[in-house]
Amino acid sequence: MTLCPELHINLAAAAANYRRMAALAAPAECAAVVKADAYGIGAKQLAPVLFKAGCRTFFVATLEEAITLRPLIPDATLSVLQGLWEKEVPLHIAHGIVPVISNLEQLGHWQRAAKASGTKLPLFLNCDTGMNRLGMTPREVDTLADDLARLDGLDLRFVMSHLACPERPEHPLNEEQRTRFEAIKKKLPPARYSLSNSSGLFLGAGYRQDMLRTGAGLYGINPQPGQPSPVECVATLTAPIIAWHEVPDTHTVGYGAIFTATPGMRLAVVAAGYADGYMRACGNGNTAFFAGHHLPIAGRVSMDMVTLDATAVPPEKLRAGAMVELIGPNCPIDQIAKNANTIGYEIFTRLGSRLKRE
Ligand SMILES: *Cc1c(COP(=O)(O)O)cnc(C)c1O
Repeated sequence: MTLCPELHINLAAAAANYRRMAALAAPAECAAVVKADAYGIGAKQLAPVLFKAGCRTFFVATLEEAITLRPLIPDATLSVLQGLWEKEVPLHIAHGIVPVISNLEQLGHWQRAAKASGTKLPLFLNCDTGMNRLGMTPREVDTLADDLARLDGLDLRFVMSHLACPERPEHPLNEEQRTRFEAIKKKLPPARYSLSNSSGLFLGAGYRQDMLRTGAGLYGINPQPGQPSPVECVATLTAPIIAWHEVPDTHTVGYGAIFTATPGMRLAVVAAGYADGYMRACGNGNTAFFAGHHLPIAGRVSMDMVTLDATAVPPEKLRAGAMVELIGPNCPIDQIAKNANTIGYEIFTRLGSRLKRE
């Protein structure tokens, strides 16, 4: 056994979060977004669990991610968000992957492939409504609306769009995007529709459409910042204490000497740092949890270590190998991320390769 940081993934909690989001989305379908290795949590482990919990549609970012997951969820619809590159068309067909098509050029590639193969190929059509990232532009939607033969031989499963600021319900862009989406729906042939991510679900009935695409909520990131979370903790990052000492005289701790320890303070060194995904900025105002106490981070987070002000813990409990919680039920990801001036998504996707995963 070695002393190393551990990431515990609670698969039952992820399944419960899926069922919770699906119940809130009903009667709309609830799809799972498992891109970037399920936000760093582990797509190979999670996807089959989510399928068992009832999920039938999965989104990834890249074709490579889709091909990795294909054999694990053979009966699910598996879709690639980043669009269709011409050279990747045969692989989409071979692996039964549904592209999210984001412009007319990609639509042309897919239609030619359908003709060549003599089968109706499925697609999701992504239309931009205000994100200005991926998606058919308003002009392209009009071109398509004037020439619907561009969809001949294809099975248009979903028309979708993506919201820019759904975690801020007061932002006027939400309603603008929803209105634009409704206008697009009128121009295109009837299909099913998908507009919202996890946060969009909470903007009201008009945002539910026929399919929710949820990622964050599944992994325990609160889709309603500032309000009680509807989902439970999935990922817990713990790391072992590797040393501790009682401070003899006033001295600073760690890089940059930004923290001053005073005599009588107990400092514990924990074996996890920014190389493990506990980002340097996570040191700002956060605490770790050990033996019933919240222990402030003392000084900068290093690459492989974090120092804690463990004065609250009696010395007999401070021993090498004891595991400290850095992220988890007592150190919620949303709080850690807020203090680090980022979002839980970024912290999870940066969890390091050195972690022992369970
Ligand atoms: C990542 C992504 C989602 C999932 O968003 P969450 O906020 O994690 O629920 C949904 N739709 C698209 C297009 C995405 O890129």
